[in-house]
Amino acid sequence: MSKISKSEYVALRKKGEKYMTLPVHDEILSRILKKSGKKLNSFLNQPLEKIQDWQLKRISYIVDYAFENIPLYRKKYSEVGYKKGSIKTWDDFFKLPYLHKEELIEGFPDAIVKDVNDFVLSTRSSGSSGKFVTIAVSEEAIYKDTLQTVRQFNMQSGGKYRPEDTILYIYTCPWWVDNINGEYKQDFLPTTTKVEDAVNHIRKTRPRYISTYPTYLEKIASTGIKLSDYGVELVIVHSEQSNVMQRKMLAEALDVQVLDEYSSEELTRIALECPMHHYHLEEDACFIEIIDDKGNKLPDGETGIVVGTNLLNTATPIIRYIQGDLAKITISQECECGDKGRIIEGVKGRNMDSIITPEGEYIPASCFMDLAYNWFLVYEIPVHGLKYQFVQPDVKRLDLYIIEGEYSLDFDAIKESIYSLIPRSMEVSVHKVDNLLYDKGVKYRPVISFVRR
Ligand SMILES: [Zn+2]
Repeated sequence: MSKISKSEYVALRKKGEKYMTLPVHDEILSRILKKSGKKLNSFLNQPLEKIQDWQLKRISYIVDYAFENIPLYRKKYSEVGYKKGSIKTWDDFFKLPYLHKEELIEGFPDAIVKDVNDFVLSTRSSGSSGKFVTIAVSEEAIYKDTLQTVRQFNMQSGGKYRPEDTILYIYTCPWWVDNINGEYKQDFLPTTTKVEDAVNHIRKTRPRYISTYPTYLEKIASTGIKLSDYGVELVIVHSEQSNVMQRKMLAEALDVQVLDEYSSEELTRIALECPMHHYHLEEDACFIEIIDDKGNKLPDGETGIVVGTNLLNTATPIIRYIQGDLAKITISQECECGDKGRIIEGVKGRNMDSIITPEGEYIPASCFMDLAYNWFLVYEIPVHGLKYQFVQPDVKRLDLYIIEGEYSLDFDAIKESIYSLIPRSMEVSVHKVDNLLYDKGVKYRPVISFVRR
């Protein structure tokens, strides 16, 4: 069994970063953009059957590749009697077992790649579980992902994105490629940047687009800056849960449009919020299914667990991966933005961030976030002043921790409002605190449950 040490991993990653700056990639990207940019841009405007025919072919290729080259899948699929070339219909695909995050963590490094040197290009994700997963990424996936970024900003800006525009990413690490032949430039600041410095940078560089975490955008908003004064037109938020209300308030405070990107490191772009506020699935980036608690596939229109297959990456294939969020899919609405096909609705936090009632019902974190915003409306507290955290220590209890600050809150009324979401069989306690109990990671989690599924 070959192991990979932390220093070896870092060295590989450095090598990969350097490798991706070679001019050859720029040449390839420019060529693909010229050759298939139009086709890429109109992919989601095709009839659904055409999209699904393409998806099935791509999936069949990826499954065979994984079965033949990746030890994790070799073992997993052999156990269910898989034979190369057996995916001819969707039903064939739906027979394959699901993939859990733990399998990727346990399989690291050698069981999840063909060759450990494939980690030269890789990505890491912690997700809301706090457990890191590292996956290798193929060069081809990076190319396609880069071109899908162009399409993303084109779509989310309502067709206003121009080759000379710059996108400022305030994120954990920069993307591999920061321009395509001098166009579609990306600028980068790490999330560890002090918000005042980030704001100065925005004033100086005037990016037309910004992509960041909602919590970082809240910090930007708390400085009182109006982003529209510095040429910013659209901010895309991602990686953390945000809700419509929160984005609307940020948009008003910053005087820009704020739209959501539903994505994960494992699946890349899952769905993008268009200017009409529909979440269109990125059908050529990943294939999404919805299942119930027992693993049965759910029909369109029913809410369940999001499962996805990455259609870009073969270095660490991600096939029927339990993403864990709750959502439903609806079909074939022709949206004013021009996209047809499948739409994902009501994406609610990760399962583990749902509150679980004694009756076994899952109440998504976003419901509690909406509730908290309602207190804000009732008590007229500035949005940035409100800090709270719901913690469910066991199935019968729910604790709410609030930093009251200078505002005085009616704790009894707040306690009562929580019962609009959960049954009376649960005991609620509201605690006034100076610091939140679990506020250590990069990502603030408003709802935490320690109840296991
Ligand atoms: Zn739309």
